[in-house]
Amino acid sequence: MPRPTLSLILPIFNEERVIPELHARLQEFLSKLGGQVEVLFVDDGSHDDSMALLRGIAASEPRYRILSFSRNFGHQAAITAGLDYARGEAVVVMDADLQDPPDVVLEMVAKWRAGYDVVYGKRRSREGETFLKLLTAKGFYRIFALMIPIDVPLDTGDFRLMSRRVVVALRTLAETHRFVRGMVAWIGFKQTAVLYDRPGRFAGETKFPLRKMIGFAIDGITSFSVLPLRFATYLGMTISVLSVLTGFWALYAKYVQHVTVQGWTTVILLVSLLASVQLLMIGILGEYIGRIYEQVKGRPLYIVGERHNLARRPDDDSLDEDAS
Ligand code: UDP
Ligand code: MG
Repeated sequence: MPRPTLSLILPIFNEERVIPELHARLQEFLSKLGGQVEVLFVDDGSHDDSMALLRGIAASEPRYRILSFSRNFGHQAAITAGLDYARGEAVVVMDADLQDPPDVVLEMVAKWRAGYDVVYGKRRSREGETFLKLLTAKGFYRIFALMIPIDVPLDTGDFRLMSRRVVVALRTLAETHRFVRGMVAWIGFKQTAVLYDRPGRFAGETKFPLRKMIGFAIDGITSFSVLPLRFATYLGMTISVLSVLTGFWALYAKYVQHVTVQGWTTVILLVSLLASVQLLMIGILGEYIGRIYEQVKGRPLYIVGERHNLARRPDDDSLDEDAS
């Protein structure tokens, strides 16, 4: 099989309400784009009718491919799987809910042809998101940028085009906790942005409740920075200095002022302050140790349950018998 020019990767988790419209828009887009394109749906363990709809699409046209996980492994795992299996000269990762408009991909392809290896979509505006989501996202990207030593573009999600050499480089990064947009920035090569207005989700609900977003933000920070650990050291040093000063003050109170019974409030305040700071610091240590533990186990990032129109390995061109 010749290598397609472009692979589109679409992670899908319970998107039955979006898939028919997505298919229609992709058909229209593919006819505009021309050339050899493969569309790779990565089903992240959906438990609605998404797979039935996708199977129908794949059965009608071989350029639509499906990789389906045995259960939900998460958005970043789905993107990783898509990148492992995509064969295109350039690969585009986009959300299935039509928040990443296919027409922007045309601009991305133009920049790729002009010599860029990574073209990421930068959100000029965002529609239909809650105030909390906007605020936490804006805040997160800015804090993240301050904390990490590499340049990660602001207000950018995973919607991006990557050249084949970037995808091949990404496959060599064997991290368990993945923050793909950071990993792409880390790889380097020529990167640029296209600005776009991000529409609201076409239908259905967001699959990222606050709990998942916080987990994702912590993954992003811990996989790119040890600054929180250093913060613990600096805070420890500051508190040590303060406790020496407090010690002098206590001695002064006892031997010069002869007042020792007073100070109950101070004791309570200091004990609770120090206890909470210590617990917080142990928590930070725990975040890193937990990640070391996960990494050492070295489990695969995803388990494939089903494949359609898709070869067993990314570079194995023969279609497998068990894939229909
Ligand atoms: N998604 C996924 N696995 C998950 C959560 C989400 O594959 O565990 C997919 C989802 O189907 C969508 C994309 O990731 O195509 C982005 O999710 P969503 O639109 O819910 O996130 P939001 O745009 O609200 O941040
Ligand atoms: Mg969305």
